[in-house]
Amino acid sequence: MAPRKDDEEGECDVIGCTNPALRSVAGKKFSKAVSDVKVPGSRRVHVCKDHYRRFRKKTKADRKLERLDW
Ligand SMILES: [Zn+2]
Repeated sequence: MAPRKDDEEGECDVIGCTNPALRSVAGKKFSKAVSDVKVPGSRRVHVCKDHYRRFRKKTKADRKLERLDW
């Protein structure tokens, strides 16, 4: 099996962002969490470090809020 590089290399899928992509996330989740940017679909999208960080921050914050809501 030859190693595939296609999935790992490339640019961030966020519209207007040209940073190198580091991580792939579910597009649906991403656009829900980071609502001020656009991604090309609801399937897996590749995002750069910066956008991934924002995604993580948002999803973490959401979880915290859910936990505190009692
Ligand atoms: Zn980006």
